Amino acid sequence: MTAAGSNGAAAAPTHIGTDVLVIGAGGAGMYAALEAARAGAAVVLADRSLIGRGGATVMAQMTVAAALGEQTPDHWEHHLSDTLAAGRGLCDERLAALLCEDGPRRLREMDDWKVGWAREDGHIKQAQAPGHDRPRCAYVDFLATGPAVSRTLRAQLNAVNAVRRIGELVIVDIAVRDGEACGATALHLPTGRAVTLAAKAVVIATGGLTGLYRRNSASCNMGGDGYALALRAGAELIDMEFVQFFPIGHLAPRLVGMDPIMWDPFRYKLGGRLLNAEMREFEQDYATRDNRSDGRYVLTRDLATYAITREVEAGRGSPAGGAYLSFQHVPEAEIRSAFGPVVDRLAANGIDLAKRPVEVAPIAHYHMGGVRVDETLQARVPGLYTCGYRATRSPRPLCSAPAPVATPRGARCRARRSGRRRPPVPHSTCCAARKGATPPIRRRSLVN
Ligand SMILES: Cc1cc2nc3c(=O)[nH]c(=O)nc-3n(C[C@H](O)[C@H](O)[C@H](O)COP(=O)(O)OP(=O)(O)OC[C@H]3O[C@@H](n4cnc5c(N)ncnc54)[C@H](O)[C@@H]3O)c2cc1C
Repeated sequence: MTAAGSNGAAAAPTHIGTDVLVIGAGGAGMYAALEAARAGAAVVLADRSLIGRGGATVMAQMTVAAALGEQTPDHWEHHLSDTLAAGRGLCDERLAALLCEDGPRRLREMDDWKVGWAREDGHIKQAQAPGHDRPRCAYVDFLATGPAVSRTLRAQLNAVNAVRRIGELVIVDIAVRDGEACGATALHLPTGRAVTLAAKAVVIATGGLTGLYRRNSASCNMGGDGYALALRAGAELIDMEFVQFFPIGHLAPRLVGMDPIMWDPFRYKLGGRLLNAEMREFEQDYATRDNRSDGRYVLTRDLATYAITREVEAGRGSPAGGAYLSFQHVPEAEIRSAFGPVVDRLAANGIDLAKRPVEVAPIAHYHMGGVRVDETLQARVPGLYTCGYRATRSPRPLCSAPAPVATPRGARCRARRSGRRRPPVPHSTCCAARKGATPPIRRRSLVN
């Protein structure tokens, strides 16, 4: 991409044509790009950050749920029934089934690609998380799942010529012609150049919106761009109020350079007591009949969030306004053996789990609403697909859903269909790009 004209006049937009345009290079976007390339399509994969390094995927440190049956016999239908139960009747069952059925295949494929799932006696280790009826969550030690998934997908992309990767390209509008998505306009951040892209299919994989909340686990790229892009293109948004709060986000003391939701794996491996200001465990008080805590870590995220919020409202919160999470009952050697180098990083932040509890509180973590799509993940605008966070409604009420599993099959088929010529980007869109349309973005620093 060349620099803007030296005479100060706005240069004509750079134009790029392709079969499939994938917007967003997190786990979902990278995987969608690979799939489209495997189906024979030419692909442009664009990201407002660096490819595979912006968004949630690279930040996710914990586990990925799939019915692999490596730790205990399992079947994707068990995973589906746990998911639907946790969704309390609100899930789109077709999409939830897609996620649960595809999950094991995708995790095994990642295994073949050497992602490095933690193993024990040769089999992939699977931890049990709240809401799952058996151990189902695979991970990469230590707290390295998301970075490993990102690295693996980046390596796969490196080996594929059909995917052109463009970082620091903010997509600002989807182009629609005769009711069909046919490309996008964008702003190239390093040069300030407008860019137009023509494509037979457009896939929105731009991640979530939790960066809009004061307390959140998001990166600065998670401001909800994809929702705005889809809505303006004519897609329907649903369940926008369905924000999942992660109950035990880190609150105090100050924690620098670490994932604010990292206490989950500590609880999987070591237990961990959630205490109110009276130093009393309270989860049991909020457990439902079918979800009794029995002192173990079994409350789903919504119930645990409710429990902590109620304790704070009742005046039994910790000093910073949350609850205490204590590992003081766990021998120091056990903490070290479970989390090795992470213990040193905590020490650098002045945290010694064997000696003192930390404070935790609910933080905005995951958005379960988004673009209404069909089973091919196509929105009501032909040619416009979504995946990852965008594929809704509420397929992920449980923690630990496989980030890259939901890929837009329709986009591949559409790109392959011989009858569809690549449409030109509408003139009005090019004009908007030339004028420098305002991107639906906010620059924010990392919160929490
Ligand atoms: C801190 C944290 C920890 C998590 N831990 C887990 C876990 O342990 N297990 C689990 O299953 N899930 C976890 N999740 C959720 C999981 O990471 C996400 O569901 C998943 O990674 C989403 O992938 P994605 O590709 O849809 O989005 P992202 O990975 O967020 O990628 C979206 C990409 O789109 C780009 N983008 C945004 N707007 C634009 C635009 N206008 N133009 C161009 N590019 C754009 C962004 O830069 C970004 O690279 C976690 C999430 C967070 C935030």
